Amino acid sequence: MDREVLKRRLLLERRRLELEIRELDADLSESLEESSEESPYDQHMAETAGVTLDREIDLSLEENTMASIAQIDRALGKLENGSYGFCDRCGKPIPEERLDVAPFATLCIDCKRIEERKR
Ligand SMILES: [Zn+2]
Repeated sequence: MDREVLKRRLLLERRRLELEIRELDADLSESLEESSEESPYDQHMAETAGVTLDREIDLSLEENTMASIAQIDRALGKLENGSYGFCDRCGKPIPEERLDVAPFATLCIDCKRIEERKR
């Protein structure tokens, strides 16, 4: 696969994720404002709990998105240093079909499974 095309694909995906985070941040500050206006002891208790839950979902979404960006940065770094397409863990080439569906992959399928089991 063409390195430049690949780089463009990764940068485009990165920009999309950055926009997503910006939107999540806007949502977050909105729900923060809402909840700080309400006293936790009045009848809005249930509503406030809902807001908190929303915020937690947004936060974990944001965490996931940030992890994806970090993953893309790692793939871009590998593209720069010439190790792109090779597994970070075992050093074997990552099959092209896998890179095609997941251009940000830095691990082969086997190693990814091992890493996931560790978590
Ligand atoms: Zn591997």
